[in-house]
Amino acid sequence: MGISIKNLRKVYENGYEALKDISLDIQDGELVCLLGPSGCGKSTTLNIIAGLLDPTSGDIAIDGQSVVGLHPKNRNIGMVFQNYALYPHMTVLENVMFPLRVGEHRRSREEAAKIAHKFMDMTNIENLADKKPSALSGGQQQRVAIARALVQTPRVLLLDEPLSNLDARLRLHIREEIRRLVKGTGITTIFVTHDQEEALSISDRIVLMNEGVVQQYDNPQKLYLDP
Ligand code: ADP
Ligand code: ADP
Repeated sequence: MGISIKNLRKVYENGYEALKDISLDIQDGELVCLLGPSGCGKSTTLNIIAGLLDPTSGDIAIDGQSVVGLHPKNRNIGMVFQNYALYPHMTVLENVMFPLRVGEHRRSREEAAKIAHKFMDMTNIENLADKKPSALSGGQQQRVAIARALVQTPRVLLLDEPLSNLDARLRLHIREEIRRLVKGTGITTIFVTHDQEEALSISDRIVLMNEGVVQQYDNPQKLYLDP
């Protein structure tokens, strides 16, 4: 169970080999960070898991089922981006409800709103329901993005540098919230960061990447990091 990544390789159209050979086993309910310098292949890895990008070769299985070739919508994955990617013309409530109102399992408006309110409550944005994203602070927008990613109770949550646009104090606060939230829901989570301290503070295990390979994969206490 969990996520199993085997011999993942990605060569972009221009011939650049962004991922050389990535293999990882992530356990059910684990919070794993992909850590490494800019350009080492973190986003590429995450986008392939999400199905936004095809691998050149290799396999990804979620709960023992290969997801390679599956449409992103059918992977049961929630994703949070660095720039939040909220729908600007929709209110907070409409943004959070959105995933429940599209696709083959679409819910009624009432049912979707009820579920959305539960997750808005969990992420402390209940009082912002009728606001547009442009009226919110960065931290509030990020909470909306997290609520929207969780509303379908996905098997896997992917977060791509979710804190990088927030100021230092808020970053500390929201990362603790994220840890509490994902541990509370038991959802398997992959968190991308280039910030060593952030990775150490939030993760069950850290994948240390460099130039398209995994250098170390271990819990924060056992990881060897350059001072
Ligand atoms: P990270 O998330 O660790 O910063 P990325 O996965 O975004 O790294 O990128 C890994 C490498 O692949 C970088 O050198 C980047 O420039 C390159 N890259 C990313 N996207 C493309 C693309 N569409 N075409 C060519 N090269 C790319
Ligand atoms: P990140 O913040 O995830 O590292 P970047 O800012 O490096 O992302 O890249 C933003 C977008 O540009 C991505 O869609 C990525 O695929 C694309 N990209 C990055 N590097 C290259 C490259 N060398 N050639 C073409 N596209 C690239």
